[in-house]
Amino acid sequence: MTVIGKEGANLHVQAMQGGKAYDGYVSQELVEHLSPSAPGFEESLAAKDWPAAAQHLSKLQRTEIDDLLKLCSASELAHLTLGVLSSKPGPYQRVSEAIARLNFAASIAGTQLWLAQSALESEQAKFQVKVIAREAWGALPPDKGKGWDEYPSNTHLPLTRIVVHHTADPLGQTVKDLESKERKAGYADMPYHFVIARNGEIYEGRRINIVGAHAGEFKNNKDITKDPDYGAIGIVLTGDFESRMENGWSPDKPTQAQLTSLQRLLSHLVWKYSLSPDSILKHSEVKRDGKPKVCPGEHLSSYVDLGKTVARQALKRLKAAEDEFQAAEQRASTLKLK
Ligand SMILES: [Zn+2]
Repeated sequence: MTVIGKEGANLHVQAMQGGKAYDGYVSQELVEHLSPSAPGFEESLAAKDWPAAAQHLSKLQRTEIDDLLKLCSASELAHLTLGVLSSKPGPYQRVSEAIARLNFAASIAGTQLWLAQSALESEQAKFQVKVIAREAWGALPPDKGKGWDEYPSNTHLPLTRIVVHHTADPLGQTVKDLESKERKAGYADMPYHFVIARNGEIYEGRRINIVGAHAGEFKNNKDITKDPDYGAIGIVLTGDFESRMENGWSPDKPTQAQLTSLQRLLSHLVWKYSLSPDSILKHSEVKRDGKPKVCPGEHLSSYVDLGKTVARQALKRLKAAEDEFQAAEQRASTLKLK
């Protein structure tokens, strides 16, 4: 039985019995007589906070647990099983055992729900990245006199693609070195939105709501929305990944840590801004004026191509996990009491 609210001296309650839902008003006295008192449990149940509900139950005597479980709907029993399984192992395991004794189908449905939820969480984790914010690495305030365009809205940024670069500088270049070089070159701020250093750390460059300055330009173009940088998220990896003897250093290979971070960041951005994986571009693929670019270099380019495939597969697995979780939720929610 679930208490929905108070109506004068009575309580508005709902209950499931024999597969039928009951809804009505009873006196507080009667409710207290019928249901063992477990205010924390009732509250957590009403809030659908299943781990908390399971933990409240676990503090009671076995007979009290059984009595309270008998007042729950089959769907609540399935979700309480989920609550126990998603908590760290502890004394509330006996709650799931009590549910299995009372209603085995609910116990199975709750276990399936937990498996589906765990699979979904592990797919979602593949889209998470840790980015070191500008404040944390000590970015200088931008010099807005030197080319500075904010996107019109912070909530629906007109982002359409991702462009990957190398710095064409040494692999060990720090984010501060790069910032200093770019500002000396006349940029208002870091021209890229993300910088991936040799150790794989990802730094926030130019804020995402500011148009970047990395993709290139069309001569005589006055329309900012036609600019190659408009809508393009810029990612740069430190290092020179192209063989060019005239540069005075041998070409680098991106480190494994850089490649791992690049892949996660690509998947994250594609997911976060609802982009197509096909919108991941190498700088050399961007339509712009001027002589063709080799950026991001021969040793990085194929990983950018691979990034599209990996992001596409990750999105597909995420969608499948979401569908499976919804199906399990549907099964658990429509369970009937035996
Ligand atoms: Zn480039």
